[in-house]
Amino acid sequence: KVRVRFAPSPTGGLHLGGVRTVLFNYLFAKKHHGDFVLRIEDTDQTRYVEGAEEYILDCLKWCGLTPDESPVAGGPYAPYRQSERKSMYRKYAEQLVGQGHAYYAFDTPEELDKNRKEIPNFQYGLAYRDGLRNSLSLSTHQVAELLDAGTPHVIRIKMPEDEKVSFNDLIRGHVSFETNQVDDKVLLKADGMPTYHLAVVVDDYLMKITHAFRGEEWLPSAPVHLLLWEYLGWKADMPQWAHLPLILKPDGHGKLSKRDGARLGFPVYAMNWFDAKTGELTPGFRELGFLPEAFLNLLATLGWNDGTDQEIFTLDELIEKFSLDRVSKAGAKFDFEKAKWFNAEWIKRSEAGSLKAEVKKVLEDKGVVVADEDYLLQVIDQIKDRCVLMPDFYQQSAYFFELPKEYDINAVKPKWTDAKTAFFNELVIGLDAVAWQAHDLEATFKALAEEKAIKVGELMLPFRIMLVGGKFGPHVFDIAQLLGKEETIKRIKTALT
Ligand code: GLU
Repeated sequence: KVRVRFAPSPTGGLHLGGVRTVLFNYLFAKKHHGDFVLRIEDTDQTRYVEGAEEYILDCLKWCGLTPDESPVAGGPYAPYRQSERKSMYRKYAEQLVGQGHAYYAFDTPEELDKNRKEIPNFQYGLAYRDGLRNSLSLSTHQVAELLDAGTPHVIRIKMPEDEKVSFNDLIRGHVSFETNQVDDKVLLKADGMPTYHLAVVVDDYLMKITHAFRGEEWLPSAPVHLLLWEYLGWKADMPQWAHLPLILKPDGHGKLSKRDGARLGFPVYAMNWFDAKTGELTPGFRELGFLPEAFLNLLATLGWNDGTDQEIFTLDELIEKFSLDRVSKAGAKFDFEKAKWFNAEWIKRSEAGSLKAEVKKVLEDKGVVVADEDYLLQVIDQIKDRCVLMPDFYQQSAYFFELPKEYDINAVKPKWTDAKTAFFNELVIGLDAVAWQAHDLEATFKALAEEKAIKVGELMLPFRIMLVGGKFGPHVFDIAQLLGKEETIKRIKTALT
């Protein structure tokens, strides 16, 4: 059975790329009727950030990418938080020491710092490990003494000399590494916590993960993981790897980072992230007014296409159409204008009913009172084609609920005449008798304009300004129909005084 995992470290908010990783894992799992596991990789306590785990859970919820197993949902391989699995890892590290594939290292942080300062390109590994305080260079007796004395130590993998480690990446194909280039990564830390490298391998094994999709930035760690799978005797159960292409800046130069977003004026995080330590707020797509469907849709197209011109996909369609051989190796440029286009398309295609709650919130946050929900639905239907981001619903629809806050007087004043005043005064009387349907209103309006010998074109804009306040919105007679007779007449009268 296919089992995939998203394994974030709770160190901050989720970048676009993180959510795309979730999405690709999820699509692949669902396509193959498999399980999607959320595992929190929180073994690095120095990088742990309060609130980050909740943020990740909220984010998955907002996107509708619900894990089958997680710290909150539980599951057959619980616990799903690595800090709670701490006691499971040591024996594997010790096993590796026993096999000669790992060793104890007693160097203090100060000693390591000194080495890093004094030796150019210092790496704890082949070139330097012999002279350092570890069980490869010390005598068995010395090591036993240090261990007996409870000397703080870590366990490091012993990278083999002159070997090639290779594997078949589902996206990149054959990938290989020279072991001499890789340092002896710490597997178990002095506090008894595993590092990411040990924990990811042990947990992928124990949780029976079959496929692992992660960002390209993890590719350099792959040789360490591959060797661990091999040394622990689990090679046959190793998941198949797929390293996803980077998401690039709009100009294609380099990886899109959180800072680029701030500089270029668009969000890079899924949802607002507030860092309590720095007091910094990193804006998110959700708060800017993206629909989760649009957000997922645009993420799916960063590095994947279905080979046709289709661009709009529902989550179900993505599950059906997703395939790894259409994921590209090359980085995908992020285009914020295109992202907004996706959102506008999704708003347009959404049923008013599914937008209602969110639109109501947008309006009420701005102090607009929405008393009648059926009316709200009709308003949404009238204007949703004009909204790109959810907050646009305020600008585009507030006038349906309250008198315009201001009038674009300059648009009509220069050409205003007494005849026009007379027209509108009479219109008020005429409208009172009309069946309240847009086309009847229009007919009455035009007939009166003809009678008064004023060009209809000269009257439509003032009428719009009276109802809406500005030069925007749907067909003016549709607006009047929705506003209702009483309100329309009231607005004409208000504007005339
Ligand atoms: N904990 C790693 C992260 O923060 C997971 C990488 C992986 O998927 O192996 O992204």
